Parts: sequence; C-alpha cells; structure tokens
Amino acid sequence: MDSIRKKELEDLDRSLIWHPFTQMKDYVEEVPLIVEKGRGCCLVDIYGKRYLDGVSSLWVNLHGHRKKEIDDAIRNQLNQVAHSTLLGISNVPAIELAKELVEITPAGLKRVFYSDSGSTAVEIAVKIAFQFWKQKGNGGKKHTFLSFINAYHGDTIGSVSLGGIDLFHEMYGSLLFQVHRAPYPYCYRCPLERSAPACGMECLNRVEEILSIHHHEIAALVIEPMIQGAAGMIVSPKGYMRGIRELTKKYGVLLIADEVATGFGRTGRMFACDHEVISPDILCLAKGITGGYLPLAATLTTEEIFNAFLGEYKDKKTFFHGHSYTGNPLACAAAVANLKVMKEEKVLEKVQGKIHFISETLKKYDKLEHVGDIRQLGMMVGIELVVDKATKEDYPFEDKIGVKVIEEARRNGLIIRPLGNVVVLMPPLSMTRDELHEILSITYDSIKKVTEDG
Ligand code: PMP
Repeated sequence: MDSIRKKELEDLDRSLIWHPFTQMKDYVEEVPLIVEKGRGCCLVDIYGKRYLDGVSSLWVNLHGHRKKEIDDAIRNQLNQVAHSTLLGISNVPAIELAKELVEITPAGLKRVFYSDSGSTAVEIAVKIAFQFWKQKGNGGKKHTFLSFINAYHGDTIGSVSLGGIDLFHEMYGSLLFQVHRAPYPYCYRCPLERSAPACGMECLNRVEEILSIHHHEIAALVIEPMIQGAAGMIVSPKGYMRGIRELTKKYGVLLIADEVATGFGRTGRMFACDHEVISPDILCLAKGITGGYLPLAATLTTEEIFNAFLGEYKDKKTFFHGHSYTGNPLACAAAVANLKVMKEEKVLEKVQGKIHFISETLKKYDKLEHVGDIRQLGMMVGIELVVDKATKEDYPFEDKIGVKVIEEARRNGLIIRPLGNVVVLMPPLSMTRDELHEILSITYDSIKKVTEDG
C-alpha cells in the first residue's frame, strides 16, 4: 500500500466512521490505528507495525487470527451457502452447532435460540423469561428482574435496563424498565463495607432479602457468573454462584447466566458456571463462540422453558422474535470449527499452565505504587489503579489514567483497552508464554511510566 493510500484511509476513517465507546473529538486529533492484517496473536497495521492483541479483539478471539481450521471451515461453507434464514427453515451448520452446544453447556440446557451479539442473546433471555411466566399462567405477575450493581449485559435497551454502570447506563434512565438491584461481591471495595471472608458473604443475604420480598414479581435473576467483566474484572468469592443458584431455586426465580464474556474457556473452564458446577435456566453466549471470527450468539434454555412456548397456532404462544441473520451458516460453521479446535488441541488443558504463569508474573505488579488490586480468573485480568494504596483513593475520571496507560502500551506494540481505572488483559487462549511475558512486561512498564514517572 502506498503512502497516499494510507493517508487517504486515515482521512476517510476520521471523517466517516463513528467509533463505539470512543470520544470522537479526541479520536480525530490522533493518527488512527488501522489494522490491515493479523496472524496468531498479533495484528499488523497499514504501516506494517506489529501489535500483540492483548484483549483478544474485544474479548472474542480464542485461537489467534487466521487459524487455519476456522478459515477453512468458513471457506468450505462459502462453497455451500453464505446465508439462509432460520425463520421456519433450517441449515446444516446451525444444526451441527446446536448439537455441540447442548453437549458442552451445563446440564439441563436443551434448546438453542440463535442471534448475533451478546446484547441480543441477553435481550432474548429477558423476553423468554418474561413470556415463560405469562404462559405458565401466573397472570403475568412476574414482570420484573433482579440484576446487579455494576452489571453489564450489552447496549440494547433491554440489556441496558439490566445494566448497572452509571457511566454507560444512567443517560438512558427514562427509556429503561425498572429492575431490582443487588450488590455484587466487589470485595476490594465492598459495597456493604464488610471484609471477606469474615463477612460470611453478607452480599448473598442481600440477594435473599430482595428475593424473599419480591419473588412474586421477579421473572429472573440475571448475572455475569464468577466475574463481572465490564465493571472491571470483579471476581466473586468461592461459593457465591452456588449460593445464587440455591436462592433462585428456593424462591422460584429463573437464573439467567450471561456468559457472553466468560464462555468458551476464557475463565479456564469451558463455562464460568462450571467452576461451581451449576446449571442456569437460561444461558447467554456470544463473543468467543466463533473463535472471534464472525458475529453469532446463542441463548440456551431448559426443556421446561421451551415447552411453555408450545401450543396451538391460534393460542399465540410462539416466540415472536428473530433477526435477519439468526443462525447464519458461515458463523455457525466457524463456531463448529472453533469447538473442534478446542477439543482436538486440548485447549482447556493447555491453558492451565498459562493461567498459572500469568498469576505468578502478576505478583510483581504488587511493587507498583499505584496498583491497588489485581484480579484474575483464568485468562481474564483486571489491574485496578489507585492514587493511594492505603486509602484506595480513585483516580478522577478526567485524569484518564487507564487511557494513558493503554496509549503508552500501544506505542510499545500492545493493544489493550481500559475500563475506567482498571487496566484489562484478556489474551487469546492460544497466546504463547513468550507473548504472555511480553504483554505482561509492556503493561508493567506502561503502568510504571504513566503512574510513577509522570
Ligand atoms: N454481556 C456481557 C457479560 C458482556 O461482557 C458483553 C460485551 N462486553 C455483552 C453482554 C454484550 O455483548 P455484545 O457487545 O456482543 O453485544
């Protein structure tokens, strides 16, 4: 590519594209990073500069870029058909994938409803839960949901209603449906001002309080199991998820597990629910489902839920929901290939050593003056930066401390994205130890430079 073309692309990008979660006033002031190609865990920009993909291209990539098996599966499917609808008819890869998903997901999940993104997977879960209770004949009394402070479930209005991150969600308040909200176990800054483990998970009691009073009106509890991602990689204590499952059963409330971020090995198990051997009533999957190749999502339900939608045509119990690209054959073929790679390359086994390597290497981050908390579940890492370790004082929003760290990292060949004052690392499961070592050192140096050396 010649330099005129490069310049042209940069100008067009700045003048035409509205980038998500990006302050465009700042963006247009900088030279944009334009990716041209990728290979393994690296991305290469139009100038040929190589970057490690430290957040798996926004938490989606599992086996690296240009993974032969997935490339081939998509090409082969292209020779068959690129797209046909799933409304009333079916396609081969969608069926093959559904079979695999039912086999690998927690016990009891038997039906697969496809869509295109994490947000739609959650949106669908919400509508199914709501309609389920109506059609169970409880007179529609279960009309609301229980979700968590700092939850993130996507950007569509239903998933924003469940969300609890003020920065992203408060603006839309008057558009949203009301939900009950419980504190998530953010032990570093306990919302109940208790400390673990002496607290005996007081936060579970709060969930029980809400359920005991409001269970008649709550259709489902919606949770990011084991780790709240967008909140800043907040890992729940051992036993918490099991407690949530028991409480939802006790009070007759469906459990919706949003595993959009955690699914497909990201936490070191196939699904986060597997850490505590629990089965939700509804499971939301997206992101890693295609190995990070194509947009695809799935909402899985139990047979009991599915059965509540069966009836005579005239009864109108049908689930009237479906997107144009639902069950897209190319995406489903990529997902089948992804699961094959997971199995054949023993990805879950191999990743254990890498997870251990990351936790060992992260220990030295303690030495950094402004690292307040380091959280890790599998390949998901959050490093919380604070002004003062003793008081846990937050950096003010306008300091853009996380942004400065990732900009420094980028100059040094690492692409990462912060969540406020939390620096996030989420490498592909296939990242080698040398590459992991590299991303951990660049991140360390970037934090040190920005927070200590000014
Ligand atoms: N749920 C969770 C837990 C997520 O982390 C995300 C995305 N980060 C979503 C839902 C939304 O997914 P998408 O961006 O694909 O709509």
